[in-house]
Amino acid sequence: MAQFWKPGAEKPQLLDDEEGGVLFVFSSAFSSSSSGYGYASIEKQRQRLPVYKYRTAILYLVETHATTIIVGETGSGKTTQIPQYLKEAGWADGGLVIACTQPRRLAVQAVASRVAEEMGVKLGEEVGYTIRFEDVTDTDKTRIKFLTDGVLLREMMDDPLLTKYSVIMIDEAHERSISTDILLGLLKKIQKRRPELRLIIASATIEAKAMSAFFQTRRRRAVESVEPPLSMEPAILSVEGRGFNVQIHYVEEPVSDYVQAAISTVQLIHDKEPYGDILVFLTGQDDIDAAVKLINEEARNGGKNSSGLFALPLYSGLSRAEQELIFSPTPRGKRKVVVSTNIAETSLTLEGIVYVVDSGFSKQRFYNPITDIENLIVAPISKASARQRAGRAGRVRPGKCYRLYTEEYFLNEMSAEGIPEIQRSNLVSCVIQLKALGIDNILGFDWLASPSPEAMIRALEVLYSLGVLDDDAKLTSPVGFQVAEIPLDPMISKMILASNQLSCSEEVLTIAAVLSIQSIWFIERGIQKEMDEAKLRFAAAEGDHVTFLNVYKGFLRSGKSSKWCYKNYINYHSMKTVVEIREQLRRIAQRLGIVLKSCDRDMQAVRKAVTAGFFANACRIEPYSHNGMYKTVRTSQEVYIHPSSVLFRVNPKWVVYQSIVSTDRQYMRNVISIDPSSLTEVAPHFYRQQGPIF
Ligand code: ADP
Ligand code: MG
Repeated sequence: MAQFWKPGAEKPQLLDDEEGGVLFVFSSAFSSSSSGYGYASIEKQRQRLPVYKYRTAILYLVETHATTIIVGETGSGKTTQIPQYLKEAGWADGGLVIACTQPRRLAVQAVASRVAEEMGVKLGEEVGYTIRFEDVTDTDKTRIKFLTDGVLLREMMDDPLLTKYSVIMIDEAHERSISTDILLGLLKKIQKRRPELRLIIASATIEAKAMSAFFQTRRRRAVESVEPPLSMEPAILSVEGRGFNVQIHYVEEPVSDYVQAAISTVQLIHDKEPYGDILVFLTGQDDIDAAVKLINEEARNGGKNSSGLFALPLYSGLSRAEQELIFSPTPRGKRKVVVSTNIAETSLTLEGIVYVVDSGFSKQRFYNPITDIENLIVAPISKASARQRAGRAGRVRPGKCYRLYTEEYFLNEMSAEGIPEIQRSNLVSCVIQLKALGIDNILGFDWLASPSPEAMIRALEVLYSLGVLDDDAKLTSPVGFQVAEIPLDPMISKMILASNQLSCSEEVLTIAAVLSIQSIWFIERGIQKEMDEAKLRFAAAEGDHVTFLNVYKGFLRSGKSSKWCYKNYINYHSMKTVVEIREQLRRIAQRLGIVLKSCDRDMQAVRKAVTAGFFANACRIEPYSHNGMYKTVRTSQEVYIHPSSVLFRVNPKWVVYQSIVSTDRQYMRNVISIDPSSLTEVAPHFYRQQGPIF
């Protein structure tokens, strides 16, 4: 059982209790005030939110300032209320639209449906949302639109000045997603051309001053032709929260398995603490599903202290029905445990949470321009994140946060802030989007935080070899513009374009759809053997991409049956998404003049198309390797085929992969065997400088 001690105490002291678990208490400095949460009409609920007291102030600032920065604790009502206030004040009159961006798709869907409910309108009419591959808006009716920051960036390709919007609220700015950072730079430019456009930058914690300095330039003068005069100086408003006290508990010794530690902590809370729901922060679908299953099994088997306990997962990619369960009130006499990624850190507010269990980790993207490898890594969170997570326990009444790391670690080793995503990402997509918007000097762009020149050079190199950029680093026509038009990773887009000449676009569109979701396999711990056997029914000698084609065919043949998926350990929800995405890609491909053709059984063509997109990720097996070690052709990095791949242990001589995940080793995901001669054929510039490689 995890043990916790009181920070500030000289030494961890043990206080005995019958379970051997030790609890010490520490009151942190979270402010407290305000009344509890009860059942009330929606209108009453709205008025109780902290942001309500600032309604007039917000509307005044937005009217008189081009940019308003609003900082307020999670749950204070920024996302759901401010767009409604703006609408009530007339900002959506005359056919204009109020936009509110979020970094995460799931948050977009959740807040849009909440706001539609509050306004008593049908989602997709007055209030709508757009995420990639899903547009739930109505061109004539939608006045408040929630969208991902990535989608707003794409909209700029068709409408560079974003003329249909009167106010754009960039929400969750503290997350510093790559698209948020790009948007902030571009919006600043747009404001020069469209001073009437209002920006709201909202966040849970930002150094509002840095953001304000970014939007402040000496050249910015007030616009005095309007009444009242419009100030170009950013305004800053801070919304006083109403969080309750949160006691923080730390473990005494570092834990080795945070999933196990999280589960025993949940049990400990359930055992010892009065009613109130529990929010557990883990890192991704795998560990979350595992924890949910273990908690529920324990409860079902009538574990001595687990009655009344039930667990639900929360991560992006959940179906609508699953999302609704998360938000629905916990039945009397029950205790809900939501096991979440960091999406519940600030993007979503769950009512009824009193206890938080913080693993101290999240999945983060890291890119190394030297090796040219981008990894998703389970990495330690920052102090700022840890504070946010703890704050989630104090929404309803005083709460408790259990940190699965030591206080010493928190104080001395955790970094204060996270690194903006732009400084730890592969920049290929970013460069192509800026180029498509006519921004040529990307290093000279007005960045909130500059990306590294090495990463930029790598991206230019890849885009040049993909034929997307020419010698002057301008988008090529038509390939460059076409790749920019397809809302996918440029490597996938290039693969689609290549399929046209190779007459295998039908197959490649399916592959592209599968590569743009997380996984089509049903993942569950403990049934590895059954899952592997099921996979073998579809496995193709060429590799994962062709295997996906077999699964897709089988799914269609079954009449898109959920039973069929269940039987074959395939994720039904993912397959439905694949079908939808494929349909949208088919439309885009047709618009780009790609002829839809099938190559039937000629998998050579499919392999070549994949190579045309992913040649930069080519790897060769090490001669005499006994453990399946590969080296990347470009940078000689040691990599291995991921155990989930159908080529695991098959180890063909040459492969290309889609992405790398690293745990104990660097593993290639989605791998296909290739013919090395096609590398020089599809990317002569890229592989010529490397010298003879074969
Ligand atoms: P902020 O953006 O400041 O973090 P929100 O506007 O997202 O705050 O949330 C304000 C309040 O609205 C929450 O405290 C919660 O009570 C309520 N709320 C938001 N989304 C939902 C939802 N999907 N279901 C029920 N209540 C919700
Ligand atoms: Mg919010």
